[in-house]
Amino acid sequence: MGTEKSQAFLDRLNSDDPVLHGGGYLFEMERRGYLQAGAYVPEVVLEFPEVVAQLHTEFARAGADIILAFTYYGHREKLRLIGKEDLLEPLNREAVRIAQRVRERFPDCFVAGNICNTNLYEPGNAAAEAEIRGIFTEQLGWAVDEGVDLIVCETLSFLGEAVIAAEVAREVGLPLVLGMAVHQSGKLRDFDGSIGEACKIVRDAGVDVVGANCHRGPATMLPVVEEIVSQVPPKHVCSFPVAYRTSEAMPTFGALQDPDMPCPEHLPGGISFPAGLDPFVCTRYEMGRFAKQAADLGVRYIGGCCGTGPHHLRSMAEALGRSPEASKYSPDMSKHYALGTNEALKAHNRDYRSSLAAASWS
Ligand SMILES: [Zn+2]
Repeated sequence: MGTEKSQAFLDRLNSDDPVLHGGGYLFEMERRGYLQAGAYVPEVVLEFPEVVAQLHTEFARAGADIILAFTYYGHREKLRLIGKEDLLEPLNREAVRIAQRVRERFPDCFVAGNICNTNLYEPGNAAAEAEIRGIFTEQLGWAVDEGVDLIVCETLSFLGEAVIAAEVAREVGLPLVLGMAVHQSGKLRDFDGSIGEACKIVRDAGVDVVGANCHRGPATMLPVVEEIVSQVPPKHVCSFPVAYRTSEAMPTFGALQDPDMPCPEHLPGGISFPAGLDPFVCTRYEMGRFAKQAADLGVRYIGGCCGTGPHHLRSMAEALGRSPEASKYSPDMSKHYALGTNEALKAHNRDYRSSLAAASWS
């Protein structure tokens, strides 16, 4: 089974040209005012399809190869939580149709169906396992029906849930990319071995591309990727970190804490996650560096998750040696009125630049 492009996607993994994954729709739609932080359900797909299409377009212009149908947290458990299960099928179908429409303008892109953590998994709970299987089956049924080229399954914290996803995806016969969420412990929630060992198990369960996504920013994702590629051939490894500046002391975006955070009363516990993370957003250059580092490890499915914007993806594409459509407007400081070097610039502004820029400017 699969579309004409399903095989092309698998062939691409064998090339020297990594697939660039554009993600982070949930956070970006929330930031723009089309989705509520907390329940995080992508009703925007039905309410403002043109806004979703616009973000797909921005990501594709920035060099993303994957147009990811926005069904993250568009599953039955989430729609039940907000009392709108009747929207489940329309939302899942419409999300793929929007992605397909955008692909008409970017014919080289792949359209991916999307499933994710259900938040139902509990080791040893057979009823929960059956429910999860049902959730994945119905979502993938609609995605396949609407003609996706591959499936991306994201942000799974449990090996058990990943194996269920692998089994369901194998039945529909499309390529599957599966990302695990690696929390502060550095491990999955139901597996004592390393993340690389877990990925090997998932890969052996028939998953085409396996790795880690979300929760970790580039600095703390890279060591995870290094461990995974010691267990799984790198061309079958994926990594799409969050675009937040995590560190050894604060390895995940949930752990990020701003000691000077103003207004700590707005989020439970006075923490920054998930709606006060703005001071920690990575620069485009950090994300670009990560793309190059992952590619140098041989990883062939690279991208961005929560917090990622088009400018991050463009830097990642450029770090991979590409010049996507949006590179037309990549920074060029030579003509900046004060920082530039162009001779047409006014000397009095250039002379004043040491007063504008950091103390190290000379
Ligand atoms: Zn994420």
